[in-house]
Amino acid sequence: MSGGFSVAVDAVVLRSPDQPMAIERIRLRDVGPHDVRVRIDATGVCHSDLSLARGVLAQPLPAVLGHEACATVLEIGSEVTDLRLGDRVILLWITPCGDCVHCARGETHLCVNGAARGAQPYALSAEDEPIYPGLTVGSFAEQTVVPAAAAVKVPGDITSAEAALLGCAVTTGVGAVTKTAAVDPGSSVLVLGLGGVGLAAVQGAKLAGASTIIAVDRNTAKAELAIKLGADQFLAADDDTRKAVRTLTGGQGVDYAFDCVGSARTIRDAWGMSRRGGNVCIVGIGGKDDSVSFSALELFHFARTLTGCVAGSLDAAIDMPRYFEHVRCGRLDLTAMVTGHGGLTDLERAMTDMAAGQGIRTLVTPAGAR
Ligand SMILES: [Zn+2]
Ligand SMILES: [Zn+2]
Repeated sequence: MSGGFSVAVDAVVLRSPDQPMAIERIRLRDVGPHDVRVRIDATGVCHSDLSLARGVLAQPLPAVLGHEACATVLEIGSEVTDLRLGDRVILLWITPCGDCVHCARGETHLCVNGAARGAQPYALSAEDEPIYPGLTVGSFAEQTVVPAAAAVKVPGDITSAEAALLGCAVTTGVGAVTKTAAVDPGSSVLVLGLGGVGLAAVQGAKLAGASTIIAVDRNTAKAELAIKLGADQFLAADDDTRKAVRTLTGGQGVDYAFDCVGSARTIRDAWGMSRRGGNVCIVGIGGKDDSVSFSALELFHFARTLTGCVAGSLDAAIDMPRYFEHVRCGRLDLTAMVTGHGGLTDLERAMTDMAAGQGIRTLVTPAGAR
């Protein structure tokens, strides 16, 4: 690593999947010509953070997790022209390079270099060990340093809580429905797994003009919120779910099924609850050892489309202004998705709640209430 490490901040550091994360003093790398240093105003705790913390997804350690954040610009690199001190920004966890084969095709969410920063240390511990930013962002901290290209300016009428959720859950869930699968008006939609991403997918289905929206989760306490955010039916995830979905869809299954969990079991469930010729979209990030199998005959016979969804196919430059407008007009209700608040010391509890399927989104305010 070149350059210095001058600014010391509190951060929640993950050292091992077997050990709770703990607050440490770390020193951030100095701001380069194209970077910004930002104060984290609000950061959501996402299911991917849990998967990274528990070792389900690979993560170089020690690391500072957190990738769904709204922040305020504190320092600007000499070559940055489009941001000013005090600007509020959403931090992107995939930063398009603008140069690779996917960026050239307009698939910026698949950018070959978009997540490369996550493999590079961005800070030092008190003992001068290199520390890595979880999913390139590292927002479970008072501050972080990112390229200016990873910071999207937030309009004044969007709150920091709303902006934070647009950093991952909302862009992923709404984008899965409206962009990746591109649901047609009048379609029937099933959403499996009602965390932040799933409830955003429910809202996306409403936006897309779906005729029937069926929301499924193992936790029946989520029924009320799912209905409030646009679901027509809530079903508890159990042995009878498939039958209930068939009954609700004239024996056919849904046109579009979204698996917002990302496991072999839920992928098979989503497959089994969609109609012949229907679409199954895998939104949740699963583990590399969790294999799902299909017989050659069923792939032919059911003629379904199975699609992987990365970050809701987000193209931030085009999509963020649209999402801001949906929030502004009340078509996306993001504050309803925040079910807990806390500081950096509450992160481990938020992770445990999430693992137990409790709550939707905990928003953490790293530098305390302002
Ligand atoms: Zn996330
Ligand atoms: Zn690229």
